[in-house]
Amino acid sequence: MIDLHTHSTASDGRDAPGRVVEAAAAVGLTVVALTDHDTTAGWAEAAEAAARTGVALVRGAEISTVSDRVSVHLLAYLHDPAHPVLVAELERTRASRLTRLERMAGLLAEDYPITWDDVLAQTGPGATVGRPHLADALVAAGVVATRDEAFATMLRPGTRYYVPHSAPDAVAAVRAVLAAGGVPVFAHPGASQRGRVVPEERIEELAAAGLAGLEVDHRDHDEPTRKRLRDLARTLGLLVTGSSDYHGAGKPNRLGENTTSAEALAQIEDQGTVEVLRP
Ligand code: AMP
Ligand code: FE
Ligand code: FE
Ligand code: ZN
Repeated sequence: MIDLHTHSTASDGRDAPGRVVEAAAAVGLTVVALTDHDTTAGWAEAAEAAARTGVALVRGAEISTVSDRVSVHLLAYLHDPAHPVLVAELERTRASRLTRLERMAGLLAEDYPITWDDVLAQTGPGATVGRPHLADALVAAGVVATRDEAFATMLRPGTRYYVPHSAPDAVAAVRAVLAAGGVPVFAHPGASQRGRVVPEERIEELAAAGLAGLEVDHRDHDEPTRKRLRDLARTLGLLVTGSSDYHGAGKPNRLGENTTSAEALAQIEDQGTVEVLRP
């Protein structure tokens, strides 16, 4: 069982990177990818846990990008984590995410009993911050019962608390991932309940720039969406992946709930610069 999309405390997951790998071993995954938002900070700890548990590790990241003002999450696999262009891009995004979250916390503090320190208490050291950390602070303060409730109410785009963050253009990000020797895969391209999704022409444009695959099997895609994306992948010659997008406690996603074929992983491995760490 191969699961190519998970998050740890290096971004907005609730398990430490080593714990994600241990949890993957416990549910019987043979291969897991760690794909924290805009960072590779969890790679070393995950690699150590992979060697210990016998799970193969695909080192990756989920890069925040925009296409025509629509948010696009780009999974990058097996890239050089020190590539200067990519490093600079991710640093810019993380800085913008921090400023943006502080502004959102300030706006929320006008109406609810939370402080920036409460938000920081929910984030790991150096973690890529995001709205889930605000949600956790709101839960801890008793303002809402769950992360989901926070996302459905005050953290939604369009509320007076919502502030966007800046992110690189999706085509530029695909090129940066390729330049870093990585394999770019479009994460949950049809997840319409998260906000606007990109039209097919944008996916064609990304494919022309070198996009390698589409994450088709994801809990945010219903059956018709999966079929449409699978057909599009075939037409464009893109590989197809499936993943859990695991975040630990606080989100219902279970490791291995969607999986990727060995053939697709072999193509990713062929194309990537950094090796898959095998026991
Ligand atoms: P941000 O990138 O800061 O705008 O926050 C978006 C992130 O929040 C996504 O990458 C998901 O990890 C997470 N997310 C989205 N919807 C929910 C939800 N309903 N409950 C918990 N986490 C969510
Ligand atoms: Fe996330
Ligand atoms: Fe995502
Ligand atoms: Zn994700």
